[in-house]
Amino acid sequence: MDKSKIFAKIDQLFAEMVELRRDLHMYPELSFQEERTAKVIADYQRQLGLEVRDHVGGRGVVATLRGGKPGKTVAIRADFDALPIQEENDVPYKSKNSGVMHACGHDAHTAIALGISKAFAAYQDQLCGTIVFIHQHAEEQDPGGAKPMVEDGALTGVDAIFATHMENYLPVGHVWHNDQVILGASDDFELTIKGVGGHGAFPHDTTDVIQIGAQLVSSLHQVVSRKVDPLKPAVLTIGAFQAGETANVIPGSARIEGTVRTFDEDVRYQIADWIKQITKHTVAAFGADFDLDYKFGYPALKNDRALNQLLVKAAADVLPEQNIHVMEPNMGAEDFSYFTGAIPGTYFFTGSANKEKGFTYPYHHPKFDIDETALRNGAKVLASAALDFLAERSDEQKV
Ligand SMILES: [Zn+2]
Ligand SMILES: [Zn+2]
Repeated sequence: MDKSKIFAKIDQLFAEMVELRRDLHMYPELSFQEERTAKVIADYQRQLGLEVRDHVGGRGVVATLRGGKPGKTVAIRADFDALPIQEENDVPYKSKNSGVMHACGHDAHTAIALGISKAFAAYQDQLCGTIVFIHQHAEEQDPGGAKPMVEDGALTGVDAIFATHMENYLPVGHVWHNDQVILGASDDFELTIKGVGGHGAFPHDTTDVIQIGAQLVSSLHQVVSRKVDPLKPAVLTIGAFQAGETANVIPGSARIEGTVRTFDEDVRYQIADWIKQITKHTVAAFGADFDLDYKFGYPALKNDRALNQLLVKAAADVLPEQNIHVMEPNMGAEDFSYFTGAIPGTYFFTGSANKEKGFTYPYHHPKFDIDETALRNGAKVLASAALDFLAERSDEQKV
C-alpha cells in the first residue's frame, strides 16, 4: 500500500494527536492504577473498529487491526503510565492529578499509537497483514506491565514489534537507533545486617553492624572492578546505608540497598552470586547474621539487527538521513525487553527537544515537556517501519 497516503493521513491527524496527548497529560495515572487511561485507549480503538482486548496482564490493552489482504503481523507498543512527580510546567494542559505527572512522555507514545491506528484504519482494505497495538501499563515500576502482558498472550501471532520513546537529549526531527543491546538489565538488592547492639564504650560486648556494613560497602564495590570482565559493562551502586541514631550507641541492625545494571546475562548472574558470597562471608567473619533480598528486575533490552536495519531505512523515508543517528547504549532500563525477549523487536528514540521553546528538561524532571512535532515524526517513522515490515514479509510469502 502507498506510504504517502499514510503519511498524509498522519499529517491530517496531527492536531488530534496533540489533543489526545494533552488530555492524557492532564489526567496522568501511576503504574498499575491506570484506570481512566486504559479506558480512553480501549474506547478510542473500539470506535475505530479494531478488535480490542482489555485487562491484558493487568491493565494492558491490545487492539488488533486486520488488513483487507493477507500478510504478516506487526506490533507497535506504547506504554501509558505516569510518575509520582508534581508537575512544575505552567501550561494549559498541566496535570490535574496532584503529585502525578506524565514526565516520561508515555502520554506522547500513546497519542502516537492511536494516531497510527486511526491512519491505518482509514485504509484497512488496502493493508496487507495485521497491525497489533500493544498499549502497556506500568512501565515505570518493577515488576512492570510488559511481562504479564506477554504471559497473557499479547504477542500471540505477532511476528515483530516496534516501539519508540521520547528523547529530550535529542532535538526534534532526529532519531536515535542501535542494533544491539541499548539498555541494561536492572536488578536491586536489599540487605539487612543483624548484630548485637550496645554501649559505644563497650564494642567488645556487641556485634557492630556499622563496621560490618562499612566493610561490605567497600567490598561490594570491588565486585565490578575485580570480578567482572572489563570489556563487559556493569555498574553497582549502593544508594542507601542506614544504621544507628546517636554517637554512643551501637545499633542492632543496619540496612543497605543497591542497584546492579548489566548488559550481559552471564555477568548479571555472576554479580548476584558475588554479592551473596561476599555478604555471607563478611557477615560470618564478624559473627553477625543477615537477610539478603535480591530482586532481578527488567532484563537488558536487545534490539534485533535485521529489524533495526529495516527501521533505519523506513526512517529515511520520513527524516533526512543526517538526522538518523546511532545511539550510545546506556544503563537505563525498560521492560520493552520482555517483548524483544519473546520475538524480534527494535526500540528507538524520537527527538523531542527544542531549545528555543524551552523543551530541554530530561525525562522524570518536574519540568519535562516535549515539542509535540515529535508526535508526527514518531508516528510516521513507526508507520513507515510497520509498512515496510509487512511489505517485505508479504513478498517473502509470495516467493
Ligand atoms: Zn520513565
Ligand atoms: Zn519512559
